[in-house]
Parts: sequence; structure tokens; C-alpha cells
Amino acid sequence: MPLLTRLIPSPVVVDIRPGALDDLGYVLADERISHSGKLAVAVSGGSGAKLRERIAPSLPGATWYEVGGGTLDDAIRLAGEIKAGHYDAVVGLGGGKIIDCAKFAAARIGLPLVAVPTNLAHDGLCSPVATLDNDAGRGSYGVPNPIAVVIDLDVIREAPVRYVRAGIGDAVSNISAIADWELANRVNGEKIDGLAAAMARQAGEAVLRHPGGIGDNDFLQVLAEALVLSGIAMSVSGDSRPSSGACHEINHAFDLLFPKRAAAHGEQCGLGAAFAMYLRGAHEESVYMAEVLRRHGLPVTPDEIGFTVDEFVRAVEFAPQTRPGRYTILEHLDLTTPQIKDTYADYVKAIGS
Ligand SMILES: [Zn+2]
Repeated sequence: MPLLTRLIPSPVVVDIRPGALDDLGYVLADERISHSGKLAVAVSGGSGAKLRERIAPSLPGATWYEVGGGTLDDAIRLAGEIKAGHYDAVVGLGGGKIIDCAKFAAARIGLPLVAVPTNLAHDGLCSPVATLDNDAGRGSYGVPNPIAVVIDLDVIREAPVRYVRAGIGDAVSNISAIADWELANRVNGEKIDGLAAAMARQAGEAVLRHPGGIGDNDFLQVLAEALVLSGIAMSVSGDSRPSSGACHEINHAFDLLFPKRAAAHGEQCGLGAAFAMYLRGAHEESVYMAEVLRRHGLPVTPDEIGFTVDEFVRAVEFAPQTRPGRYTILEHLDLTTPQIKDTYADYVKAIGS
């Protein structure tokens, strides 16, 4: 007998709105995630202190843990500290590093994770992956999806605007990633998970076509929802395919070739996506994407994030090596250095300055 439906691994609670943080304790108790209120809350020592001060009174049963940074050691240490506490859940309250540390620690000790991101820099806030620095550089670790995601848009508005912008680049890059997936399907017969593709594409398109800006709550709402849906799309497909193609290979190449100078993940992915769309011959889409990224203050040429054209060309050339086995427009075209240079010159002409 065929399966009648499939179950989607997804959070029990998705609460995205202004002021959501004030109700965190009630929401978790109400949904029976933490009836007793016994929560281990992981925060950063710096910006976390202010948030802790604000919400500690509403979480009387919580124990607070300061997380040093975003390394594997930090995550293992956190797991060790939390282990003996008999908590209902781990709450990761902060930016990407804190969430990823908390994700890993919660998975290690078998507790559910509540993700409370304080910025919208990328789609990792609800994904089944924890990215942590280790001795070999940076590693991606598979973890369960968060059981709850709470995003307070008032808190997001207070985050440095550059981090919110980066999330736009990461969301919009889904469109290029899906085009790569479809290409791999056409050329290599790689199977597409239609539901995961639909979720990721709709998330990208909603952000791309939204007329608002980062100062508007309705735009931030759509952006936050898009990033959550992108993360769930990755859970549905079981890998990062719905949200990661040539755009992300170019981003990884920047990180690996220029580790000290790399820009934000989403900034590099947005630039990578606009260029990848041009590479695949989707010129109109590329120009539109660049126009939107520009409108939100995101970079669309390498000099806007401090790289020369030659460095960008090197990154594009190196990009396929960052994700062996992933077939994108870069592997498909297998361009020579002069060809990348020429196409980049055409791209710059097309998007105008
Ligand atoms: Zn990404």
C-alpha cells in the first residue's frame, strides 16, 4: 500500500511578530514544550546580556548559559554544562553562532531546541544543520529541526541593518539554487523533491517581489517567514539543495580563499545568485535580481564587498571545488578564466552601474 501522505519535519510553534519575545514563556508552556518552564537558555555574553535582563522576569524557571563563540568546542562545552539540568528544552537566543551552538548542544543531549534568532542574516535559523568552526576550518553538522521558532520583529529591527540585508540575499538566492537543481535534473537525472523546491522557490520569490523595505514590519514578516520556510525545505529534501547551488559555491569560495576578508554569507550568496542567473542565460531575471538587491542596499558587484574583479573571477573558478558532487551552472559550463572574465564584464554592463 502506498503512503497516503508524508509527514514534514517541522516546528510545533512558529511565532513571528512584533513583541513575540515577551510571550515566549507562555507560548512554550501553552504548547506543552515546557510545561514546567525549566529551560536552558543559551545567550551571548555581549548583546545577550541586554535581552536577558529584559526577558528573564518572564522566564522564572530558566537557567542562563553564556556561550563563548561559534566553535565546536563551545557547543560541546555548552552540552556538558546543560546535561545535568533536567530541562524540558534548550533555547538558543541570539545570532547565528548562538543558535548553531544551541542546536548542536541540544541534539547532543537529546533535548528539543527552541530557536529565538535576534537577526535574520541567513536561513539557518530553522534548518537541520549547525555550522560550527572546528580545527579543520568550518563544519556543517546534521541536527534535528528546532521544535519552535520565535522571531520578535521588534528585536530584529534593533539588529545591525547589514545582518537583516544579508538574509534577503540568502532568501533570494533560493531562486538560483532551484534553477541549478532543475538543471541537474535535466542533465543528470538528479531527482527533484517538488515540495521542497516549491517551498524554497516561493520563499525566494516572495522576498524578491515584495515592494517593501527593511524598515517595514510587513517586509520583515515576509523575510522571516521565507527564511523559516527555506530551513524547512531543507528538512523536507534532506539536504541543502533547495537553498544552495552555484550561489552558495561562490560564497564558500570567498570564505575559503579569503577567510579574513569574507563578507556576510547572505551578501555573498546574493551576489553569487545574480551572477549565476546571468551565467545560465537568464539575463532578465539576473538584472531584476540585481536591481532588487541594490534597492535593499546589498552588493551586486565584488568591489562593493571589497574584492577586485580578479579575486571574484578566482572565487567563481574555485567555487565548484567547494561542493564536490553538487551539479550547478558552474559545473555545467566549466568555464575557463577568460570566459568567466568576459561573462562578468557582460553582467556588469547588463546590470548598469
Ligand atoms: Zn545560505
